[in-house]
Amino acid sequence: MYIVLIGPQGSGKGTQADRLVASLDLMKISTGELFRAERAAGTELGNLVAGILDAGELVPDDVTIAIVEGRLKEIDAGAAHGAVFDGFPRNRGQAEALDAALSSRGSSIDHVVEIDISEEKLIHRLSGRRVCTVCGAVYHIETAPPAVDMICDRCGGHVAQRADDTPESIHRRLSIFAELTKPLLDYYSERGIVSHVDGDQPMQSVEHAIRRIVQSEVGAS
Ligand code: AMP
Repeated sequence: MYIVLIGPQGSGKGTQADRLVASLDLMKISTGELFRAERAAGTELGNLVAGILDAGELVPDDVTIAIVEGRLKEIDAGAAHGAVFDGFPRNRGQAEALDAALSSRGSSIDHVVEIDISEEKLIHRLSGRRVCTVCGAVYHIETAPPAVDMICDRCGGHVAQRADDTPESIHRRLSIFAELTKPLLDYYSERGIVSHVDGDQPMQSVEHAIRRIVQSEVGAS
């Protein structure tokens, strides 16, 4: 099963993707996390994308698609029974490349879930968001802080604000979302695979809503 989560930064896509893959045999493919990991490891790719990430601009499509292909090959080799995409595709070119990659495997996207969220909630989430620099676990300084200040509950790593959670970068990413990513809902809607979930609800309720959407496939697998 292949699921695409679409929503602006701060809509909770990453958290929901984590929750879904924990119970289904799916791989989380978060291009943002993959790029941050490359950067933290100081690889050539990481150095190439560092400035782009900080500015909130998009990494070129060929680079992004190549990193996703790498993960799909792991699924081909039996690492999982599909994937939840978080932060990919972000524009029409990436969406078409994903369709081609899945169709060459005799597969296709089963569900596209849009997580809708009010701007007020979004700003609150983003300004308080903190992320583990080692495993990527997401916290919020008010609503979901780690048990020990700035230490990750999951892996003991250092928890910090993301380098690209600055007001300028947030603004840039939100406008890219509105211009390039949100229109993908039209691209997918004619296939009848798009659902909408209210992202202003508590995380648990969002999770239940997404699970109801993918339920039939869960039962069948
Ligand atoms: P995210 O964690 O999804 O907010 O992504 C963080 C940053 O990584 C973005 O602001 C982009 O610079 C880059 N990025 C992540 N996913 C993509 C993508 N699908 N296409 C291009 N750039 C991406």
